[in-house]
Amino acid sequence: MKVHNFSAGPGILPQEVLKKSAEAVLNFDNLNLSLLEISHRSKNFINVMEEARALAKELLGLGDGYQTIFVGGGASLQFAMVPYNLLKTDGKAGYLNTGVWASKAIKEAKLIGETVVVASSEDKNFSYIPKKYAIPSNLDYLHITSNNTIYGTQLKTFPITPVSMVCDMSSDIFSRKIDASKFDLIYAGAQKNMGPAGSTLVIVKESILGKTGRKLLSMLDYSVHIKGESMYNTPPVFPIYVSLLTMKWLKENGGVEWIEKINNKKANLLYAEIDRNLMFKGTVEVEDRSNMNANFVMTDNGKSHEVEFEKMTKEAGISGLNGHRDVGGYRASMYNALPVESVEALIEVMKAFEQKFA
Ligand SMILES: *Cc1c(COP(=O)(O)O)cnc(C)c1O
Repeated sequence: MKVHNFSAGPGILPQEVLKKSAEAVLNFDNLNLSLLEISHRSKNFINVMEEARALAKELLGLGDGYQTIFVGGGASLQFAMVPYNLLKTDGKAGYLNTGVWASKAIKEAKLIGETVVVASSEDKNFSYIPKKYAIPSNLDYLHITSNNTIYGTQLKTFPITPVSMVCDMSSDIFSRKIDASKFDLIYAGAQKNMGPAGSTLVIVKESILGKTGRKLLSMLDYSVHIKGESMYNTPPVFPIYVSLLTMKWLKENGGVEWIEKINNKKANLLYAEIDRNLMFKGTVEVEDRSNMNANFVMTDNGKSHEVEFEKMTKEAGISGLNGHRDVGGYRASMYNALPVESVEALIEVMKAFEQKFA
């Protein structure tokens, strides 16, 4: 049976990428060796790294002045590395608090230096994106989270600010056209929208580095990773390779512009059904709804039939629909690799459920 994978993370990857990745584990580049058992300094792997570093920038429309590195430790390590590398010992960082991930980033920054929260939506359980707020002009940087994976909210526009902007794009990188040059640093854990867990993409404008007045531990220093061409130490070779294949898949099919149309279509279809269907309702401010993660709950009509709904989704091959353990309900994650047909399959079940029990 075909499985429709709505998992929030690690999330769905293109079938052809998985196939090629599996092949490379057995026989990489016709070397009769596994990708997993060759030197990362071999020509074959250096090509992978160089291509991946260049393609990430290309897909974001970024040019000279920016450097791409792939590091371990997940997006969570970036919560610490960002302030460690950018927050001056006598400086101040600003954060937009739009969810659990943003809150965790704030917690780390506070351990490193002065940190202010410029705006927060915690008052309404992160169900909206704060809009009108002042950004102090003396910040070393402003940190935002473009897509809030757990709550299903997304920044549709980015703040206009004179200070450096840093963005956690873990769950919507390469999903829509953005002006990436507005950011001095972008990071994304691979496992939501670009590859397996284990590697984090960091793209940084080199000119902002080296200004904190702090001596940095090598492994936590962006400059060290850049100087080492993202191979200061053994990089996570497999996640980087799969991320490269996913980026190539995206480029060959028409790039971010192509996927944005599909992502809009999927989100429009599903939200229309959530709004129409008597059994379900959305949980966040309509204008802030995420195109990547759609959260919804049962209305009073539906509530006593949750078990039946779960049975029906399971029978239709729908997987990964449970909401985050902190928020409950349902969450349909519609990352780049999720086909429109999967959304249509979910909608069909929602309709059948309504017909049966409303
Ligand atoms: C999943 C996620 C993280 C955490 O990623 P890890 O790789 O598990 O550290 C951080 N930020 C966002 C927006 C996420 O979706």
